[in-house]
Amino acid sequence: VDFGSREVPKEEKQKLVNEVFTRVAEKYDIMNDAMSLGIHRLWKDQFISDMGNFHTNSNLSFLDVAGGTGDIGFRIVEKLKQDIPSFYSGNQTWDLTISDINAEMLEVGKQRASALGYNINWVQANAEELPFEDNKFDFYTIAFGIRNVTDRLKALKEAKRVLKLGGRFMCLEFSKINYPVLDQVYSLYSQNVIPAMGKIIANDRDSYQYLVDSIEKFPSQEEFAALMNNAGFEYITHRDLTFGVVAIHSGIKL
Ligand code: SAM
Repeated sequence: VDFGSREVPKEEKQKLVNEVFTRVAEKYDIMNDAMSLGIHRLWKDQFISDMGNFHTNSNLSFLDVAGGTGDIGFRIVEKLKQDIPSFYSGNQTWDLTISDINAEMLEVGKQRASALGYNINWVQANAEELPFEDNKFDFYTIAFGIRNVTDRLKALKEAKRVLKLGGRFMCLEFSKINYPVLDQVYSLYSQNVIPAMGKIIANDRDSYQYLVDSIEKFPSQEEFAALMNNAGFEYITHRDLTFGVVAIHSGIKL
């Protein structure tokens, strides 16, 4: 598959993205650790902790989009265990849906979840057209997912639609490093080391080259915040982790 040297038309892009994740699904978790030297775990932990305390008397409803093999969803369940005193009482006061466009990624997630005993809804769906009613969720999370979506504004509008009033959108994504030297070092690492690792660990250089290129093409922190604004979110904030290698964006539906 040739992702790099030509502009891929919109319709074709999602198909190529799906092929990539179908190919990498089985090796996805191990590759994440290898490529990020384990740091993706810290970023995900920070993201969950930025969601705030889930202690509440009302039922909480979570949607994790592009949830893949479950890393964000599982962390939400673990945080619920800590934050909600009634977690073990048998009365489940929360619900969590993990959705992803790719059946193979979800399948790996389902197997992990059943090994851990988590009660999660799994829904195969495109972030651009979610099969959920309006005003349903308190939280919409998307981690390392939005850059793969073809029409991001459409996905953000869908996020707003399915959130309740006062509900919160949170995105964790690769972003722009604001330090030129560091940016060059990082770019060398990702352009050379990551596709090579993909070749060695998963025998799949092209898929990992796609991932690196999609990271480089993704908008800056400010541009993405502006897109959230276009979609109608309010109280938009963003903050960098690891010098802007990744950023957390947050917005509220009002
Ligand atoms: N959120 C998980 C994590 O942080 O480990 C998985 C991230 S993985 C890099 C990106 C995921 O986005 C893949 O599982 C892929 O199938 C999914 N994806 C790509 N395009 C999508 C779309 N249009 N709608 C929903 N999910 C999509």
